Amino acid sequence: MRCDILIIGGGAAALRAALAAYEKDNSLKIVIAVKGKLGKCGTTALAYSDRMAFHATLPTTPPFDRNNWKYHAMDIYEIGGCVSDYNLAEILAKNSAEAFEYLDKLGVPFAKKDGVPVQFVTDGSIYPRACYTGPDTAVQIERALLKKVYEIPNIQILEDTMITDILVSDKVEGAIGLSKDILFIEAKAIVVATGGAGSIYKVNVFPARMTGDGYAMALRAGCELVNMEFIQIGLSSVKTNLACSGSIMRCIPRFINSNGEEFLNKDNITFEDIFNKGATWPISIEHKTCLIDIAVFREISKGKKVYLDFSNNPINFNFDDLPNEIKERYDSEIKEYSNNRKTPFSRLKEINPQTISWFKERGIDLSKDLLELAPAIQHFQGGIKIDKDAKSNIEGLFACGECAGGQHGANRPGGNALLDTQVFGKIAGECAAIYANQATYSNKVNLLAKDKQREYDKYNDEQGIELKYLSNELKETMSTFASVIRFEEGLNKALDTIERLKSTKIKHDKLSEIIEFKNMLLTAEAVVKTCMQRKESRGPHLYFEQFESQPLKRDSKYDVYFVAQINKENNRVEIYPKIPIRPQGDD
Ligand SMILES: Cc1cc2nc3c(=O)[nH]c(=O)nc-3n(C[C@H](O)[C@H](O)[C@H](O)COP(=O)(O)OP(=O)(O)OC[C@H]3O[C@@H](n4cnc5c(N)ncnc54)[C@H](O)[C@@H]3O)c2cc1C
Repeated sequence: MRCDILIIGGGAAALRAALAAYEKDNSLKIVIAVKGKLGKCGTTALAYSDRMAFHATLPTTPPFDRNNWKYHAMDIYEIGGCVSDYNLAEILAKNSAEAFEYLDKLGVPFAKKDGVPVQFVTDGSIYPRACYTGPDTAVQIERALLKKVYEIPNIQILEDTMITDILVSDKVEGAIGLSKDILFIEAKAIVVATGGAGSIYKVNVFPARMTGDGYAMALRAGCELVNMEFIQIGLSSVKTNLACSGSIMRCIPRFINSNGEEFLNKDNITFEDIFNKGATWPISIEHKTCLIDIAVFREISKGKKVYLDFSNNPINFNFDDLPNEIKERYDSEIKEYSNNRKTPFSRLKEINPQTISWFKERGIDLSKDLLELAPAIQHFQGGIKIDKDAKSNIEGLFACGECAGGQHGANRPGGNALLDTQVFGKIAGECAAIYANQATYSNKVNLLAKDKQREYDKYNDEQGIELKYLSNELKETMSTFASVIRFEEGLNKALDTIERLKSTKIKHDKLSEIIEFKNMLLTAEAVVKTCMQRKESRGPHLYFEQFESQPLKRDSKYDVYFVAQINKENNRVEIYPKIPIRPQGDD
């Protein structure tokens, strides 16, 4: 098969890239290859939370001055721990209003009051920039983009097609994929928009099959990945996958383990911290509330389960004793005034009755049932290192959305991931179109693809171990050693496991699943090796001397980002530091 541009993925980033490529040059043949059914796989199409945010600096966004995008860019960069490329943060902020407008015109039903988009403050941001439709903002974005894509005949869609490798010489030549048969695709330009890799962890809130294919394919093709240690993690309900943030914490529930013991009071954690966890959901060393995640993680590591109890107050809790600013914040959240604040449940009912109904619809009655929770993986801040044109270090290869990296740092203020899919999705599509328009086919794809096919033929083994056992071991290892508490001994154990699994023979199985597992291993290797380099804490990367010690502090020695790349000589992932692009005048 031959096309000008191959777009890998079917989420918000891929769809925006396809539309932008078409809008730039409608003579090009554009192909979207997606692993499942379009609109029914990947994070954008399936994720929900209590209120999903799309960040934008609009003319109506405070502080209402002409350059208000600068505050947005600085938030991304500084709250991100100054380990991202500032020029990319600037691009995100400057283009956010246009990105919002595009979606608005496509019919995404953003909340508005008197015609003005309603915006709220999310974790990390200083000004209210979060636009939303509700718990389904991402789903609405996917739906609107998809409707537009279906109207364009030049965009060919290959569903149930997993791209397994990107084929390169000194530039992009095409890709190899699996649908019913093996597929060789010659392409002048490729846009990788394959999303994150939640499936490498046992506990995550991603949809299924997010196995890090884009990261692994890019590594094998020779790309640089950046910031792979920075992964958003937060306390989530195990049964429903819902992030336990906002009102769920602001009603100050009781944290207990499976022995019925309260354990937060041992770690100098106050009721105020539990309340503040509502606004600092993802773990970050920059917030004291990360002590809650650490305490929960330690209980789980001891083999216990952890629950939120809404029927009883934490020991020694008295609502009236809370500091005034907390009580004022609580008052500002009230939806159904009752003046009954006796239990966490009655408080939750007062500030967010919808959450109670939401859980009830899913078989959990918070007035009596315990809510099991665990730290879950939600977003990969790093990825394929891109420049201002969304281009990787390989000619003709572009990346956008969650699988791209360098635009976000350690922390990612909530709402900027969906924004990223639109801003860099558009840039990737446009720049791929400009490139493809000038490029020629060099007819190398068959040769390169046949080499890969021969490699795949060796993957199955009648004597090997069943894939599900290997995959579970990897997930368990990552959730144990590369999650909330990262320390040298644990990371070494994780790497040993990955090395062993890499050389273990796999029992005959579906080729696509074997390749997914290999992609998970390579992505995990890049994550673990990057974690090992950063012997400090920054954002969600909490580094400890030992499992039971306190997290190390941020250290200016690590004001760099780490890049992962495969060394072609020995075929191993190697990590090296690089200086990010700083704001002008910033040393
Ligand atoms: C529970 C949850 C809540 C979130 N809340 C927010 C929020 O409020 N605000 C915010 O900004 N962000 C939020 N995020 C993050 C945000 O939703 C994602 O970062 C974003 O949707 C990713 O979009 P994407 O297009 O890059 O990737 P995805 O939407 O994940 O799309 C990736 C696509 O690639 C396909 N694919 C993967 N591998 C292959 C392959 N080998 N071949 C072919 N196709 C492939 C997948 O099937 C999928 O179609 C949240 C995420 C989660 C999980």
